[in-house]
Amino acid sequence: MFICDRTLGKLAKWLRILGFETKYIKIYDDIELLEEVAKTKGFIFLSRNVKILKNIDPLKSYLVKSDSYKDQLREISKFFPPEWSKKLCTLCSVCGSRLQSIDKKEVKHLLPEYVFDHYDNFKYCSSCSKVYWKGTHLNKIIDEIIRIFPGKLSDSMRE
Ligand SMILES: [Zn+2]
Repeated sequence: MFICDRTLGKLAKWLRILGFETKYIKIYDDIELLEEVAKTKGFIFLSRNVKILKNIDPLKSYLVKSDSYKDQLREISKFFPPEWSKKLCTLCSVCGSRLQSIDKKEVKHLLPEYVFDHYDNFKYCSSCSKVYWKGTHLNKIIDEIIRIFPGKLSDSMRE
């Protein structure tokens, strides 16, 4: 749904946390970058670089103005579909792949002992082997999103 260029790595991570399919392209060369963006159909290209955006269809791109990822998220929330909060934490924040629920015994070798003993709900990224669990970490993320978008998420999402 979104492509972020190299200036927007943190935004890309948060868009994935929110559940939006997001490509993060770390290409420095403008021509190579434009070629890569052209190949990716159906995505909105986000950049802070006015020069590069002159070469892209304004309907398929957006110039991000804010410095902080929180303001950036608010700025581009006009592109979010209604009910977007239902997709929260369905994608891997590192690589963007879809997460799957997994039995904790299968990922025991990847977890700190404390986490294995105290949590039961785990999600796993089969692309990069990152494990996520419902608990303090997820609650921190939800708190952060409640701060960025007041009134959008309910406290009931916390566990
Ligand atoms: Zn991953």
